[in-house]
Amino acid sequence: MTFYEVRAKSALNKVPGSVPGTPYGWTINPYRGCSHACVYCFARPTHEYLEFTDPADFDAEVVVKVNVAEVLRAELARPSWQRSPVALGTNTDPYQRAEGRYRLMPGILGALADSRTPVSLLTKGTLLRRDLPLLARIAEHGPVDLAMSIAIFDPELQALVEPGTPTAAARLATVRAAREAGLECGVFLMPVLPCLTDSVEHLDAAFTAIAEAGASYVVWTALHLKPGVRQWYLAWLHRWFPQHEATYRRVYSSGAFATKAYRQWLAERIAPLLRQHGLRRGSVDDATGSTRSRSAGIVRAAEAAGSQPVLF
Ligand code: SF4
Repeated sequence: MTFYEVRAKSALNKVPGSVPGTPYGWTINPYRGCSHACVYCFARPTHEYLEFTDPADFDAEVVVKVNVAEVLRAELARPSWQRSPVALGTNTDPYQRAEGRYRLMPGILGALADSRTPVSLLTKGTLLRRDLPLLARIAEHGPVDLAMSIAIFDPELQALVEPGTPTAAARLATVRAAREAGLECGVFLMPVLPCLTDSVEHLDAAFTAIAEAGASYVVWTALHLKPGVRQWYLAWLHRWFPQHEATYRRVYSSGAFATKAYRQWLAERIAPLLRQHGLRRGSVDDATGSTRSRSAGIVRAAEAAGSQPVLF
């Protein structure tokens, strides 16, 4: 792996907002590129903007914004900052391997806490456990919404699809630790991969383990194959599972999204399993792709009551 240390000019990225009363959503990505190397990663094509032309560079050539916490603190101190929810883990994983070396997250979370900004965080990294005491302190004063992404509960398949990630068991143990620390922590069982992880056996094993870990909720959706990701994923499928290529051609015949028929079939398969395991379905923030901050509900309730939202 190669780490490129850069000094960032800005830390907060503005995305179209989905929280009523706040015009924008905000994200922070301390790293560009991701050593978790998921074959389905939708962020892979974004590495081209950094002039990395080989799609495999996304997994091994990681840009590190070494001054991100310092820049963030200055941005949050501006009088114009309205404490909109900030999402981490939307484009690259903040708890990927580089974080063990660079320790950028404690500074980021500390800056968000000091400015009383709501935080949502999605990761596959078990290093999250290191920062649970800090997150629990932040949660004493306002919404902290965590989610662990765990798509694959078959260790051999996981090693093929997400070669740089911790095991599902280690991620589930992190969910359990977060819940024991008093934090809300859901599981993103996504993407569901047609033919590979959509069997009743796989889904049932997944929901059993997620329920045992005490997850707050589950979010799931079928694989998306957007341009850039599509070629990379289908080349991988051709190499490892050529017997499923015909099904993928059918399921993705209309473009990036699985056909409506497949999505309905999957929903009908999952709904009774969720009920059986007593799990609640969570919701995704459409603006960031991360877990939805509970501050959205607080703002909505305040609007309905005609008052100012009190986030902290
Ligand atoms: S962890 Fe997320 S950002 Fe990293 S490679 Fe996997 S899908 Fe992409």
